[in-house]
Amino acid sequence: VRPEQPVFRFAPSPNGLLHLGHALSAIVNHDMAAAIGGRFLLRIEDIDRTRCRPEFETAIFEDLTWLGLSWDEPVRRQSDHLARYAATLDRLKAMGLVYPSVMSRGEIKAAVAAAEASGGAWPRDPDGTPLYPGRERDLSPGEQAKLVAGGRAYAWRLDVAKAVQRAGEPLTWHETGAGPSGETWRIAADPSAWGDVILSRSDAPSSYHLSVVADDALQGVTHVVRGRDLYHATSIHRLLQRLLGLPEPVYHHHRLILGPDGRKLSKSNGDSGIAALRAAGHSPEDIRRMLADDTSEHMRDLQSPRT
Ligand code: GLU
Repeated sequence: VRPEQPVFRFAPSPNGLLHLGHALSAIVNHDMAAAIGGRFLLRIEDIDRTRCRPEFETAIFEDLTWLGLSWDEPVRRQSDHLARYAATLDRLKAMGLVYPSVMSRGEIKAAVAAAEASGGAWPRDPDGTPLYPGRERDLSPGEQAKLVAGGRAYAWRLDVAKAVQRAGEPLTWHETGAGPSGETWRIAADPSAWGDVILSRSDAPSSYHLSVVADDALQGVTHVVRGRDLYHATSIHRLLQRLLGLPEPVYHHHRLILGPDGRKLSKSNGDSGIAALRAAGHSPEDIRRMLADDTSEHMRDLQSPRT
Protein backbone atom coordinates (compact mmCIF):
# COMPACT_ATOMS: atom_id res chain seq x y z
CA VAL A 1 0.00 0.00 0.00
CA ARG A 2 1.35 3.40 -0.97
CA PRO A 3 1.28 5.91 1.87
CA GLU A 4 0.73 8.83 -0.50
CA GLN A 5 -2.42 9.64 -2.45
CA PRO A 6 -2.24 8.34 -6.03
CA VAL A 7 -1.77 11.05 -8.67
CA PHE A 8 -2.80 10.67 -12.31
CA ARG A 9 -2.38 13.15 -15.14
CA PHE A 10 -3.68 13.79 -18.64
CA ALA A 11 -0.98 15.65 -20.58
CA PRO A 12 -2.14 16.76 -24.03
CA SER A 13 -0.19 19.02 -26.39
CA PRO A 14 -2.25 21.97 -27.67
CA ASN A 15 -1.15 21.50 -31.28
CA GLY A 16 -4.56 20.49 -32.60
CA LEU A 17 -8.06 19.52 -31.50
CA LEU A 18 -8.59 16.55 -29.20
CA HIS A 19 -9.96 13.39 -30.80
CA LEU A 20 -11.46 10.13 -29.50
CA GLY A 21 -8.00 8.81 -28.58
CA HIS A 22 -7.47 11.76 -26.26
CA ALA A 23 -10.95 11.28 -24.82
CA LEU A 24 -10.04 7.68 -24.00
CA SER A 25 -6.81 8.78 -22.31
CA ALA A 26 -8.49 11.51 -20.29
CA ILE A 27 -11.42 9.30 -19.26
CA VAL A 28 -9.23 6.33 -18.29
CA ASN A 29 -6.98 8.61 -16.19
CA HIS A 30 -9.96 10.32 -14.59
CA ASP A 31 -11.83 7.09 -13.86
CA MET A 32 -8.78 5.22 -12.53
CA ALA A 33 -8.06 8.14 -10.21
CA ALA A 34 -11.66 8.23 -9.03
CA ALA A 35 -11.67 4.46 -8.45
CA ILE A 36 -8.77 4.59 -5.99
CA GLY A 37 -9.28 8.00 -4.41
CA GLY A 38 -6.49 9.58 -6.43
CA ARG A 39 -6.04 13.08 -7.82
CA PHE A 40 -6.43 13.83 -11.53
CA LEU A 41 -4.20 16.55 -12.95
CA LEU A 42 -4.21 18.29 -16.32
CA ARG A 43 -0.87 19.30 -17.80
CA ILE A 44 -0.51 21.32 -20.98
CA GLU A 45 2.58 20.11 -22.89
CA ASP A 46 3.32 23.14 -25.04
CA ILE A 47 7.12 22.99 -25.31
CA ASP A 48 7.02 23.10 -29.10
CA ARG A 49 6.06 26.74 -29.59
CA THR A 50 5.98 26.42 -33.38
CA ARG A 51 3.06 23.98 -33.28
CA CYS A 52 1.14 24.88 -30.11
CA ARG A 53 -1.58 27.54 -30.13
CA PRO A 54 -3.65 29.15 -27.33
CA GLU A 55 -6.94 28.39 -29.10
CA PHE A 56 -6.16 24.67 -28.95
CA GLU A 57 -5.49 25.00 -25.23
CA THR A 58 -8.89 26.67 -24.77
CA ALA A 59 -10.47 23.86 -26.80
CA ILE A 60 -8.87 21.26 -24.49
CA PHE A 61 -10.52 22.86 -21.44
CA GLU A 62 -13.86 23.04 -23.26
CA ASP A 63 -13.77 19.46 -24.54
CA LEU A 64 -12.80 17.97 -21.17
CA THR A 65 -15.44 20.02 -19.34
CA TRP A 66 -18.06 18.93 -21.87
CA LEU A 67 -17.01 15.29 -21.30
CA GLY A 68 -17.82 15.84 -17.63
CA LEU A 69 -14.23 15.59 -16.43
CA SER A 70 -12.87 17.92 -13.78
CA TRP A 71 -9.25 18.19 -12.72
CA ASP A 72 -7.37 19.38 -9.70
CA GLU A 73 -6.01 22.91 -10.10
CA PRO A 74 -3.70 24.46 -10.95
CA VAL A 75 -3.13 23.37 -14.53
CA ARG A 76 0.61 23.14 -15.23
CA ARG A 77 1.68 24.68 -18.52
CA GLN A 78 5.15 23.50 -19.54
CA SER A 79 6.10 26.70 -21.37
CA ASP A 80 5.96 28.47 -17.97
CA HIS A 81 8.74 26.26 -16.60
CA LEU A 82 11.53 26.27 -19.16
CA ALA A 83 14.14 27.26 -16.55
CA ARG A 84 13.37 24.09 -14.61
CA TYR A 85 13.97 21.87 -17.65
CA ALA A 86 17.21 23.74 -18.35
CA ALA A 87 18.29 23.05 -14.76
CA THR A 88 17.45 19.37 -15.21
CA LEU A 89 19.55 19.31 -18.39
CA ASP A 90 22.38 21.01 -16.47
CA ARG A 91 22.45 18.10 -14.05
CA LEU A 92 22.94 15.68 -16.95
CA LYS A 93 25.61 17.99 -18.40
CA ALA A 94 27.43 17.96 -15.06
CA MET A 95 27.37 14.14 -15.16
CA GLY A 96 28.99 14.26 -18.60
CA LEU A 97 26.07 12.38 -20.14
CA VAL A 98 24.98 14.83 -22.85
CA TYR A 99 26.84 16.42 -25.72
CA PRO A 100 26.05 19.10 -28.31
CA SER A 101 25.30 17.97 -31.85
CA VAL A 102 24.99 20.29 -34.84
CA MET A 103 24.14 17.63 -37.43
CA SER A 104 20.97 18.79 -39.18
CA ARG A 105 18.13 16.48 -40.18
CA GLY A 106 19.35 16.69 -43.79
CA GLU A 107 22.91 15.74 -42.82
CA ILE A 108 21.63 12.84 -40.75
CA LYS A 109 19.52 11.64 -43.67
CA ALA A 110 22.51 11.81 -46.01
CA ALA A 111 24.78 9.98 -43.53
CA VAL A 112 22.19 7.23 -43.07
CA ALA A 113 21.71 6.91 -46.83
CA ALA A 114 25.48 6.63 -47.33
CA ALA A 115 25.77 4.00 -44.58
CA GLU A 116 22.89 2.03 -46.06
CA ALA A 117 24.39 2.22 -49.56
CA SER A 118 27.55 0.55 -48.34
CA GLY A 119 26.41 -1.66 -45.47
CA GLY A 120 22.70 -2.58 -45.55
CA ALA A 121 19.84 -1.27 -43.42
CA TRP A 122 20.76 1.28 -40.75
CA PRO A 123 19.20 0.57 -37.32
CA ARG A 124 15.99 2.42 -36.51
CA ASP A 125 14.38 3.46 -33.23
CA PRO A 126 11.00 2.04 -32.10
CA ASP A 127 9.25 4.85 -34.02
CA GLY A 128 11.07 3.88 -37.22
CA THR A 129 13.46 6.85 -37.29
CA PRO A 130 17.07 5.96 -38.17
CA LEU A 131 19.35 6.12 -35.14
CA TYR A 132 21.66 9.11 -34.96
CA PRO A 133 24.67 8.17 -37.10
CA GLY A 134 27.09 10.90 -35.97
CA ARG A 135 30.31 10.87 -34.00
CA GLU A 136 29.96 14.22 -32.23
CA ARG A 137 29.91 12.43 -28.89
CA ASP A 138 33.61 11.78 -29.30
CA LEU A 139 34.58 15.47 -29.47
CA SER A 140 36.77 16.86 -26.70
CA PRO A 141 35.23 19.35 -24.24
CA GLY A 142 37.14 22.13 -26.01
CA GLU A 143 35.79 21.12 -29.42
CA GLN A 144 32.27 20.88 -27.94
CA ALA A 145 32.53 24.39 -26.52
CA LYS A 146 33.63 25.68 -29.92
CA LEU A 147 30.66 23.94 -31.54
CA VAL A 148 28.18 25.57 -29.13
CA ALA A 149 29.77 28.99 -29.62
CA GLY A 150 29.83 28.57 -33.39
CA GLY A 151 26.38 30.04 -34.01
CA ARG A 152 24.80 27.00 -35.68
CA ALA A 153 21.63 25.54 -34.22
CA TYR A 154 22.49 22.52 -32.11
CA ALA A 155 20.85 19.85 -29.98
CA TRP A 156 21.86 18.29 -26.70
CA ARG A 157 21.94 14.54 -27.16
CA LEU A 158 22.05 11.91 -24.44
CA ASP A 159 25.08 9.62 -24.72
CA VAL A 160 22.83 6.62 -24.24
CA ALA A 161 25.61 4.01 -23.92
CA LYS A 162 27.33 6.03 -21.20
CA ALA A 163 23.99 6.78 -19.54
CA VAL A 164 22.97 3.12 -19.44
CA GLN A 165 26.32 2.24 -17.92
CA ARG A 166 25.97 5.00 -15.34
CA ALA A 167 22.41 3.88 -14.50
CA GLY A 168 23.77 0.55 -13.30
CA GLU A 169 21.34 -2.28 -12.68
CA PRO A 170 19.09 -3.23 -15.60
CA LEU A 171 16.10 -0.90 -15.89
CA THR A 172 12.54 -2.14 -15.74
CA TRP A 173 9.10 -0.67 -15.24
CA HIS A 174 5.76 -1.84 -13.84
CA GLU A 175 3.03 -2.01 -16.47
CA THR A 176 -0.44 -2.50 -15.01
CA GLY A 177 -3.63 -3.77 -16.59
CA ALA A 178 -6.64 -1.59 -17.15
CA GLY A 179 -7.98 -1.59 -13.60
CA PRO A 180 -6.30 -0.35 -10.44
CA SER A 181 -6.31 -3.88 -9.04
CA GLY A 182 -5.39 -5.41 -12.38
CA GLU A 183 -2.49 -7.60 -13.29
CA THR A 184 1.01 -6.09 -13.29
CA TRP A 185 3.90 -6.94 -15.60
CA ARG A 186 7.55 -6.15 -15.00
CA ILE A 187 8.86 -4.88 -18.35
CA ALA A 188 12.55 -4.74 -19.28
CA ALA A 189 13.44 -1.26 -20.50
CA ASP A 190 15.65 -0.93 -23.58
CA PRO A 191 16.78 2.71 -23.77
CA SER A 192 19.60 1.89 -26.21
CA ALA A 193 16.97 1.16 -28.85
CA TRP A 194 16.53 4.94 -29.14
CA GLY A 195 20.17 5.77 -29.78
CA ASP A 196 21.44 9.16 -28.62
CA VAL A 197 18.06 10.89 -28.20
CA ILE A 198 17.74 14.67 -28.26
CA LEU A 199 16.94 16.16 -24.83
CA SER A 200 16.99 19.83 -25.77
CA ARG A 201 17.69 22.14 -28.72
CA SER A 202 19.21 25.57 -28.83
CA ASP A 203 15.91 26.77 -30.37
CA ALA A 204 13.51 24.62 -28.21
CA PRO A 205 14.67 24.49 -24.61
CA SER A 206 13.45 21.02 -23.74
CA SER A 207 12.36 17.82 -25.39
CA TYR A 208 9.23 15.86 -24.59
CA HIS A 209 11.33 13.22 -22.78
CA LEU A 210 13.09 15.67 -20.48
CA SER A 211 10.05 17.75 -19.53
CA VAL A 212 7.70 14.80 -19.03
CA VAL A 213 10.13 13.12 -16.64
CA ALA A 214 10.84 16.35 -14.75
CA ASP A 215 7.14 17.20 -14.40
CA ASP A 216 5.90 13.74 -13.47
CA ALA A 217 8.39 13.79 -10.58
CA LEU A 218 7.67 17.38 -9.57
CA GLN A 219 3.91 16.81 -9.59
CA GLY A 220 4.21 13.57 -7.64
CA VAL A 221 2.60 11.53 -10.41
CA THR A 222 2.29 7.94 -9.23
CA HIS A 223 0.43 6.53 -12.27
CA VAL A 224 1.33 7.40 -15.85
CA VAL A 225 -1.63 6.39 -18.02
CA ARG A 226 -1.25 7.10 -21.74
CA GLY A 227 -1.53 5.54 -25.18
CA ARG A 228 0.43 2.58 -26.53
CA ASP A 229 2.25 4.91 -28.92
CA LEU A 230 4.35 6.01 -25.93
CA TYR A 231 5.02 2.49 -24.62
CA HIS A 232 8.61 2.32 -25.89
CA ALA A 233 9.39 5.90 -24.81
CA THR A 234 9.02 4.62 -21.24
CA SER A 235 12.50 3.08 -21.61
CA ILE A 236 14.02 6.55 -21.99
CA HIS A 237 11.86 7.92 -19.18
CA ARG A 238 13.01 5.19 -16.79
CA LEU A 239 16.63 5.85 -17.73
CA LEU A 240 16.27 9.59 -17.03
CA GLN A 241 14.45 8.88 -13.76
CA ARG A 242 17.28 6.60 -12.59
CA LEU A 243 20.00 9.09 -13.59
CA LEU A 244 18.24 11.99 -11.89
CA GLY A 245 17.25 10.02 -8.78
CA LEU A 246 13.51 10.50 -9.41
CA PRO A 247 10.74 8.18 -8.18
CA GLU A 248 9.35 5.46 -10.43
CA PRO A 249 5.65 5.75 -11.32
CA VAL A 250 3.49 2.80 -12.35
CA TYR A 251 2.62 2.76 -16.06
CA HIS A 252 -0.47 1.80 -17.99
CA HIS A 253 -0.43 2.13 -21.77
CA HIS A 254 -3.94 1.85 -23.12
CA ARG A 255 -4.99 0.74 -26.59
CA LEU A 256 -5.05 3.26 -29.37
CA ILE A 257 -8.21 4.26 -31.14
CA LEU A 258 -7.84 3.49 -34.82
CA GLY A 259 -9.67 5.10 -37.68
CA PRO A 260 -11.68 3.20 -40.32
CA ASP A 261 -8.44 2.81 -42.30
CA GLY A 262 -6.92 0.92 -39.36
CA ARG A 263 -4.44 3.71 -38.67
CA LYS A 264 -3.91 5.69 -35.48
CA LEU A 265 -6.11 8.78 -35.27
CA SER A 266 -4.32 12.06 -35.77
CA LYS A 267 -5.28 15.61 -35.00
CA SER A 268 -6.26 16.03 -38.64
CA ASN A 269 -8.89 13.24 -38.44
CA GLY A 270 -11.70 15.81 -38.32
CA ASP A 271 -14.60 13.34 -37.94
CA SER A 272 -13.32 11.82 -34.74
CA GLY A 273 -12.62 15.19 -33.13
CA ILE A 274 -14.47 15.66 -29.86
CA ALA A 275 -15.69 19.09 -30.94
CA ALA A 276 -16.92 17.65 -34.25
CA LEU A 277 -18.76 14.82 -32.50
CA ARG A 278 -20.35 17.35 -30.14
CA ALA A 279 -21.38 19.53 -33.09
CA ALA A 280 -22.89 16.47 -34.77
CA GLY A 281 -25.22 16.08 -31.79
CA HIS A 282 -23.48 13.34 -29.83
CA SER A 283 -23.63 13.44 -26.02
CA PRO A 284 -20.79 12.74 -23.58
CA GLU A 285 -22.54 9.43 -22.84
CA ASP A 286 -22.34 8.59 -26.56
CA ILE A 287 -18.59 9.19 -26.44
CA ARG A 288 -18.18 6.87 -23.47
CA ARG A 289 -20.26 4.26 -25.30
CA MET A 290 -18.12 4.61 -28.44
CA LEU A 291 -14.98 4.08 -26.41
CA ALA A 292 -16.40 1.10 -24.58
CA ASP A 293 -17.43 -0.64 -27.79
CA ASP A 294 -14.39 -2.68 -28.74
CA THR A 295 -16.15 -4.25 -31.68
CA SER A 296 -16.77 -0.98 -33.46
CA GLU A 297 -14.87 -0.78 -36.71
CA HIS A 298 -13.51 2.53 -35.48
CA MET A 299 -11.41 0.96 -32.78
CA ARG A 300 -9.35 -2.10 -32.23
CA ASP A 301 -7.30 -3.36 -29.33
CA LEU A 302 -3.60 -3.42 -29.82
CA GLN A 303 -1.94 -6.57 -28.50
CA SER A 304 -1.61 -6.82 -24.75
CA PRO A 305 1.63 -5.53 -23.23
CA ARG A 306 4.77 -7.44 -24.14
CA THR A 307 6.52 -8.98 -21.18
N1 GLU B 1 1.99 15.30 -24.53
C1 GLU B 1 1.98 13.95 -25.02
C2 GLU B 1 1.01 13.84 -26.20
O1 GLU B 1 0.26 14.72 -26.46
C3 GLU B 1 1.60 12.92 -23.96
C4 GLU B 1 2.64 12.81 -22.91
C5 GLU B 1 2.47 11.67 -21.91
O2 GLU B 1 1.35 11.28 -21.59
O3 GLU B 1 3.49 11.20 -21.41
O4 GLU B 1 1.01 12.85 -26.88
